Amino acid sequence: RSKSAGRNEFRFFDPAMQVAAVERVALATDLRKAIEEKQFLLHYQAQVISGNGVIGAEVLVRWMHPQRGLVSPAEFIPLAEETGLILPLGDWVLETACAQLAVWALRPEMEHLTIAVNVSARQFGKLDFVERVLSVLKRTGANAARLKLELTESLLVDNVQETIEKMFALKAKGVGFSLDDFGTGYSSLSYLKKLPLDQLKIDQSFVRDVLLDPNDAAIARTIVALAQSLGLGVIAEGVETEMQRDFLAGVGCHCYQGYLFSRPVVLEAFEELVLKREMIEGLSHKVNAETA
Ligand code: C2E
Ligand code: MG
Ligand code: MG
Ligand code: MG
Repeated sequence: RSKSAGRNEFRFFDPAMQVAAVERVALATDLRKAIEEKQFLLHYQAQVISGNGVIGAEVLVRWMHPQRGLVSPAEFIPLAEETGLILPLGDWVLETACAQLAVWALRPEMEHLTIAVNVSARQFGKLDFVERVLSVLKRTGANAARLKLELTESLLVDNVQETIEKMFALKAKGVGFSLDDFGTGYSSLSYLKKLPLDQLKIDQSFVRDVLLDPNDAAIARTIVALAQSLGLGVIAEGVETEMQRDFLAGVGCHCYQGYLFSRPVVLEAFEELVLKREMIEGLSHKVNAETA
């Protein structure tokens, strides 16, 4: 097909849309290749608890595209879900995270760390999801209690009975669950109490303007109260300023993740941060003890 025929064929379409469609096909082809060639990398973003340093990390996948450079997950995760490539990619992320947990287990200054892994709906929906996770845990020797799976609300309501069974099966082995982007999806409060969740994660869209927008402040406060009354932990994502952190602490949220503490970084930088923060916290405890 010649170039001009191609142009005629599409003349009634919005050219911007056509460019976007072609772009997506190209990206999907590249993605397939990227999985074979392992062009992915994990970044670790610290999760901290006030006064106690770093409790763990969320792993966020990055694609090192040979021509485009680092591609953001916002661009390729939806595409990976549509094409089913999220399955091999998700397996790789889980395997890499669990292998890291097993390495940390041998280092006294790292053994307490947890890793949170994002799970997509398509991945979780697979009949053998539980088996896959358990076999990765077994193969890597990771402690299940250090693994936290981040699920989203929409994923939970898809097939509630099956979801409950899968979660309980993993929970029985010690795996933890956090409800990611909480407040942005379907929030049926009735299923919240049926699911063996450990934590609600306040979406960054509420944290961003928590000091400016009274509605966001009310939502953040309500999510913390909800977590407390359901006996769940709560963590806020996207915490960028001390004032946001202080507001959240004021309403009872003491776990945070965000640029204020660290951007998502490569493994070595994350480990350095853990060691450094432990030293700082250790020193401040010592100073407090001496001045007390
Ligand atoms: P998420 O799980 O809600 O992750 C939080 C996102 O917020 C990350 O974006 C993170 O870099 C960003 N972030 C963290 N702290 C701050 C902050 O203080 N301010 C602002 N403005 N942003 C902050 P990222 O890395 O681009 O990931 C985007 C989304 O892609 C994730 O949202 C998650 O849904 C998805 N994702 C990432 N890695 C994976 C993965 O391995 N598997 C699956 N299924 N999804 C993934
Ligand atoms: Mg997440
Ligand atoms: Mg999130
Ligand atoms: Mg989010």
